[in-house]
Amino acid sequence: MTSLLIIGVGFMGGSFALALRRGGFEGSIYGIDIKQETIERAKAMGVIEEGGTDLHLVEKFSPRFVVLASPVRTFRSIGRALREYIDRETVITDLGSVKGRLVFELEDILGDRFVGSHPIAGTEKSGVEHSFGELFEGKKVVITPTDRTDREALDEVVGLWKLTGGKVEFMDPMLHDWVFGAVSHLPHAVAFALIDALIEMSDEVDLFKYPGAGFKDFTRIAGSDPVMWRDIFLENKENVLKAIDVYSQSLKRLGDLIENEDEEALTEYLREAKQRRLSLE
Ligand code: NAD
Repeated sequence: MTSLLIIGVGFMGGSFALALRRGGFEGSIYGIDIKQETIERAKAMGVIEEGGTDLHLVEKFSPRFVVLASPVRTFRSIGRALREYIDRETVITDLGSVKGRLVFELEDILGDRFVGSHPIAGTEKSGVEHSFGELFEGKKVVITPTDRTDREALDEVVGLWKLTGGKVEFMDPMLHDWVFGAVSHLPHAVAFALIDALIEMSDEVDLFKYPGAGFKDFTRIAGSDPVMWRDIFLENKENVLKAIDVYSQSLKRLGDLIENEDEEALTEYLREAKQRRLSLE
């Protein structure tokens, strides 16, 4: 019977397990996490059947699939440790938000049956207690095969995602990091920085006592897990820094339009942004 092991049984790993079950995956699902209480909770919730904190357990579980679902900067060391326990048949994938060079490095470590994937689904919540099986339903899942990727392993990973209800798209790993550096990592950076700016400005008045709906909407994602985001920013450093640079220039342009009281140009700047935003709906 096909079995699957999740390493990092948090919000995403837990949701992936629940979504597979919901989609009819019949094999055993195991979990490894650095926290024993997380394993206990995941077992109690029916997310995994068995699990523990020791990577040696991989040998005992002998899974057909391994899914890396911890923060992205843990993947290399987990991959190195995994190497001695997996065999040629094992298919490995991940749920990480960064692909790029990391995918090629993981191929070097784990071989051509590693297939990178990134579900474009999530919330600012973390922890297995928030996981749910409908998370990926109808959502994009970006899979990043390379010239090296074993085609059979790729098909098997696509098959898993189909069970979860995700809509698979393929993308080059380097392009992935540029795209998501702009549309996901930059907005998170801006939300964290906005909160930081308000802390700076809260000397005399605690500005956090007066949150409007716009402020709450805009900063919701700053409630995301700091370790996960630290890892994403560092792992996609070049693209994130470029995106911050372009964003700073846009903010500067806006500041100049306000400074110059250029009503026409300011209206045009805001109108264009509004139209782009509305086209998403
Ligand atoms: P989470 O904090 O809910 O879960 C991460 C889990 O990994 C935790 O249970 C933690 O104890 C465990 N962990 C940490 N280090 C470990 C290690 N060395 N070995 C084993 N377990 C370890 O975070 P999450 O939101 O589930 O994110 C997990 C992954 O999914 C990240 O790589 C993230 O980039 C990716 N991702 C998250 C979202 C999202 O919206 N949350 C969306 C897409 C992708």
